This record gives sequence, C-alpha cells and structure tokens, in this order.
Amino acid sequence: MEWVWAVIASATATGLALALWRSRVQLEKVQAVAAADAERQREIFDGLDIGLVVYDASDRLVVWNHDFELLYGALAPRLKVGLRFEDLLRAAVSDGEVPAAIGREEAWIAERMASHRRPQQPLPRQMANGRWRRIVERFLPDGSMLSYSVDVTEMVLQEQALQAAQREAHLAVTRLEDAIEALPAAFELYDAEDRVQMSNARMRELHPLVSHLLPGRPTFEALVRANAALGGLSAMSVSVDEWLADRLPQRRNPGAPRVVNLNDGTWVRIHERRTREGGLVGIRMDVTELVKREHELSALNAELDAANRRLSELSETDALTGIANRRLFDRRLHEEWSRAQRHDLPLTLLLIDVDHFKRYNDRHGHVAGDACLRRVADLLRACARRPDELLVRYGGEEFVVLLPHTGAAEGRAQAERCLAAMDAADIPHEDSPLGPNLTLSIGVGTRPTGPHGEEDALALLRRADAALYRAKHEGRHRVVSDSA
Ligand code: GH3
Ligand code: MG
Ligand code: MG
Repeated sequence: MEWVWAVIASATATGLALALWRSRVQLEKVQAVAAADAERQREIFDGLDIGLVVYDASDRLVVWNHDFELLYGALAPRLKVGLRFEDLLRAAVSDGEVPAAIGREEAWIAERMASHRRPQQPLPRQMANGRWRRIVERFLPDGSMLSYSVDVTEMVLQEQALQAAQREAHLAVTRLEDAIEALPAAFELYDAEDRVQMSNARMRELHPLVSHLLPGRPTFEALVRANAALGGLSAMSVSVDEWLADRLPQRRNPGAPRVVNLNDGTWVRIHERRTREGGLVGIRMDVTELVKREHELSALNAELDAANRRLSELSETDALTGIANRRLFDRRLHEEWSRAQRHDLPLTLLLIDVDHFKRYNDRHGHVAGDACLRRVADLLRACARRPDELLVRYGGEEFVVLLPHTGAAEGRAQAERCLAAMDAADIPHEDSPLGPNLTLSIGVGTRPTGPHGEEDALALLRRADAALYRAKHEGRHRVVSDSA
C-alpha cells in the first residue's frame, strides 16, 4: 500500500506544484496588467497639456507630470520627490523664472506663499517664456495639495487687446469732449434716432431748464416739449406743435446756416449738418456783436450813399438858382443827342438870355441882380411841360432848356410861353430901353431829322446861339428859331 501513498503523495505534490505554478503565472499576469495600467496612466498623465503636481501634507513634492517640468525649464532636473514647495519657489525666483517677482523677490515670495497656504481664486501668472498660466490649487481630504495650471495666453492677450481698445476708445471720447468744450460755440450731436448724444457747456447754458435731462439721451422733440412744459420757451410766438411741425422737417434736411434773433436780444448763427450715421450736428454761434457791426455798417453805408448822391447833385447844381448847371447840361446834351441820332428823333434847345442885364445890375445892384436871376429860374421852371425837360443855368444871365422828343414848332411854342410868363411877371427894370419890365430873348435850335440829321451836339448849340444872336440883333424881347 505504500506505493499507493507514494503515488498519492507524488500526485499531490505534483498537483500542488502545478497549482503553485498556476497561481504564480496568474500573479505575474496580474502584475503585468497592473504595470501596463500604471504605464498607461503615466502616459496619459504626461500627455496632458495641463501642469499637474501633488504636494504632500508637509508641502513636499510627491508627483508631477511632464507639462509641469516644462514650466520650470532649466530647473526641471532639480525636481525631486520630497522637495519643499517653498524651496522650489525660491529656486524659480532666483533663476529669474518669474517675471512678476523681478525686483521685489522676497515680497513676491511672501505673497505667493500666503496664497498657496489659503488657496482661493485661480492665480494668473506669467512664465519666463512670456506665456500666461492660470494656476489652481486645492487641498485634498488627506491634507495633501493638488495643483494644476492651464495655458491661458490667448485669453490674456485678447483681454489685454480689449483693454487697450477700451482705453483708446475712452481717450477718443475724452479728446472729443475736450475739443467740443473748447469750441467758441454751443455744440450738440444727435444720433440717427434724433437722440442727443453729446453737448457742451455752452449749449447747456442756452437751455438751463432741461440740461439735467441730457444724460438720459432724450430725442430733440422730447427736449423741446420738456422745455416748453417747464416754461423755457414761453416767448415762442406759436404753439409747440406748430413749431415742431416746422422745425422737425428742417432738421431732416438742414440747409444753409441761418441767423436767428433770440428773445433776449442776442443773435445766433445756427449751423446744422447731417452726420454719416444719419444723425445731426448743431452749432450755435453768438453773432450779436457781428450783427450789430453789420447794422452799424449798413447804416453808415446808407449815409455815405446819401452823402455821395447829395455831392453829385451838388456838383451838377447851380448854387445861385438851384437848377442844373453847365456840367449836368454837357452830360445830358450828349446823351440826348446820341439817343435822338440813334432813333432819328427831334431834339430842341432853347438858349435864353436876359436883356440888358448889365444895366439891371448897374441900376438895382448886384444883390438884387442875384435875386432877379433866381426869379427868372423859377419862372422858367414853371414853364416846363414834361418831366424829361432839362432847365440849366448855362452861365451868367443865360439859361438853356433842353427838350427831348420835341420838334421846332413845339419848341418855339414853349419859348413863346417862357417869354409871355416873363412879361406877365412884371419884374421892373428901371434902366431898360425896351420898357418898364425885365425881358428875355430866346434862340430856338432844333436838330434836323432825316437826311440832314448827321450833325453833332455842338452844332445844335450853335444853331440856338445863332438864333439868339439874331433875336438880340432884331431888337431883343423875342423868340427866333434857327432857319435850317
Ligand atoms: P444883352 O441884352 O446884350 O444880353 O445885354 P446884357 O447886359 O445882358 O449882356 P452882357 O453880356 O453885356 O452882360 C451880362 C451881365 O450879366 C454882366 C454881369 O454883370 C451880369 N451877370 C452875370 N452873372 C451874374 C450873376 O451871377 N449875378 C449878377 N447879379 N449878375 C450877373
Ligand atoms: Mg448874355
Ligand atoms: Mg443878356
């Protein structure tokens, strides 16, 4: 039976050995799987682009990944399990790995240690390569600390760009505000909805009752209605509705600047222009002084014009009698002659001479002679029939009447009337050989029309002069027409 036991024993031993071998193989398999898992976990751990690190409860390095090593650059080989966080921090600072700490190393380390001990907000931090990380630290239940950091460079750069743009925009607005405040005019800017966007102090002074509404960006219409309700437009001659009905279309289509007289007597020039966004810019300039000057100037100009007119009248007026003088006669004779010739019209000239006037002076005195000449002028003026006639003191005691559109017969008739008017006036001439009264001799010259019309103005004067000479020669106190 012994062999049986031997067999059994051997079989049992074999079985045991077999079982033992089997379980060993199993163990090795399990171990291999576990090692592979650990390896895979490590690969994942290192493959993350998040810097991961764990410190134990006494703040010493336990485990970290590849991304964490990269962050520390030259310092990476010195990372060892058991290295204290603070020593790592100091090494990084003294190696210049922390740009924010440069120049204030101890203070920065103290701040960092404080935040590390009581982690609250994620920390932004710029690394030595210029890139930004966001560091999150968190205590685990066993008192150890998990810390991870994520690259947020793009976000930080965008934020910086945004802040720079906001600063630029703010600067642009303050510059614009300074510029419009510096304007020597009231300024307002409306948007496309006709809401006020900007105004300067001068504009607010013009509408003090509604200036507090401006920050609410009311429309122009709302402002006007509020102003009217508060009594700011009491002197308006029409209702607010009527005023707005006129004013609103004008704002949509502003034309040339207008000058407006305000109730307090000031004058403002209003410039309005549409903006590119469809709004409106309004500028009001106080032009009261300018308008006053303009009024003064135009009054002065009117005075000057009147003085000039008076001067030219005087220069063509005879001082003694107040009728036209020789200068005006020369001009009018030329004009009338040219007109008559152009249209082949008749033109007649009366040359009138007072008879024996030298004797009158000698008898009655020179002063009486002057008064007498004035009376003769008045009498001749009263003989005029048409507004285009011209009575002239030609010189001394000689007068001329220029009669446009007048032929020889009509001219002679007028000369006869003058002679008769003189006779009727009964002006005594005590030394006249012709009778008791002053008399006239008149020569009538007429411009010939038709084929003989091509003379000059002086020829007409010569005709009248020749006729007058004959009147004198034939006994005076008569009318003689030229015989042409
Ligand atoms: P006749 O009938 O030929 O025309 O004789 P007359 O004396 O009128 O003519 P004459 O030419 O010899 O004299 C004109 C006079 O008119 C001479 C001058 O004393 C006078 N006389 C000329 N101008 C004025 C004037 O402004 N005032 C006065 N009081 N006399 C004047
Ligand atoms: Mg004479
Ligand atoms: Mg005379």
